[in-house]
Amino acid sequence: MLPDQQLLRIPGPSPIPPSVQRAMGKPMIGHRGQETKELLQRIKPKLKPIFGTQQDVLIITGSGTAGLETAVVNTVKPGDEVLVIVTGSFGDRFAKICTEYQIKTHRLDIKWGKSVSPGSVEAYLKEHPSIKAVFSTYCETSTGVMNPIEELATVVHNHSDALFIVDGVSCIGGVETKMDEWGIDILVTGSQKALMLPAGLTFVSASNRAWKVMDANERPRFYLDLKKYQDNLVNDATPFTPALSLLFGLEQVLKLLEEEGLEQVYTRHQLMKNMTRAAFRAHDIPLLTSDDSASSTITAIKPADFQAEDLRSMIKKEFGLEVAGGQQHMKGEIFRIGHMGYCSPADVLQIIGIIEIGLQKIGKAIDLGKGTRAAQELYIG
Ligand SMILES: *Cc1c(COP(=O)(O)O)cnc(C)c1O
Repeated sequence: MLPDQQLLRIPGPSPIPPSVQRAMGKPMIGHRGQETKELLQRIKPKLKPIFGTQQDVLIITGSGTAGLETAVVNTVKPGDEVLVIVTGSFGDRFAKICTEYQIKTHRLDIKWGKSVSPGSVEAYLKEHPSIKAVFSTYCETSTGVMNPIEELATVVHNHSDALFIVDGVSCIGGVETKMDEWGIDILVTGSQKALMLPAGLTFVSASNRAWKVMDANERPRFYLDLKKYQDNLVNDATPFTPALSLLFGLEQVLKLLEEEGLEQVYTRHQLMKNMTRAAFRAHDIPLLTSDDSASSTITAIKPADFQAEDLRSMIKKEFGLEVAGGQQHMKGEIFRIGHMGYCSPADVLQIIGIIEIGLQKIGKAIDLGKGTRAAQELYIG
């Protein structure tokens, strides 16, 4: 293994393209000067198609959780009732933020590895008519499940007046999203997953319906007051000093996405998902999620006859390939491969090839190359 070669395939942070890395090394500029203004002017329109919205996408310095907290503190106040769909540890985080802010939080807990069914949300809303907001994860990073966001938005709006608030941190930029058309009221993402940047930026966009609710919400808030970001962005500015290096990188990321074409970006992610799943299937190694709820950005594998942790340490030691383990009660039960952002089918072949060696080395007798072959065949089509 090369001392400085790292193969980072966890579901965020994800690898950074060299041109983005270089862009981030540019010298500092004044954040109130013309150059920053022009930078924001160039970035602004290019974020919208990624969210599928005509609204502005607001940029806050902070990790993804700051975006989740922004969604909570701007829309609801202590005593309000909300429903949080919990399909894993990030749904759980949304619920914890709400509880911490003394919101009356209903949890719809779904077995880890499954997506939520819109019918169960419909039933819940009918029983609890005073729910003001419904929170859901889009891609649940802890399990690799994609929740059916479009259908959920329909159910929420057909059966309540609640806002529909979505955590898209681990998939926006990797999967097609139509915030306006589907009826998402607040959509949040972060910089370090499919957007190919280091952690440090969170992106939040809100519907007109959400703005009405936020404008009427008198709950105190300062740094995370979304209105401040909106009022400033109208003038191509930010309320506080922006993380300029990350914005330099972001401009380059948006350029790369535009060059490849968003449709192609989404197709590439689907292909990487399918190749990864085909490879494990070929070895009869169980996947945690079903095909119809599987994420294009991350795949969770639930081994039946070897230790996930043994494999993880073997491939890290031998090849510097890092994949993620399980979270909370799934620790040791699963491992998770991030195939998002700066990741291509070529990388998937490398991941699979290495894992096959790793499996052999930890004592699971496998047919070497069978998974790689399945992935290759899928690629060739
Ligand atoms: C990574 C992630 C977050 C944000 O985590 P931070 O560590 O605060 O950036 C939130 N939600 C999901 C689904 C994530 O994958």
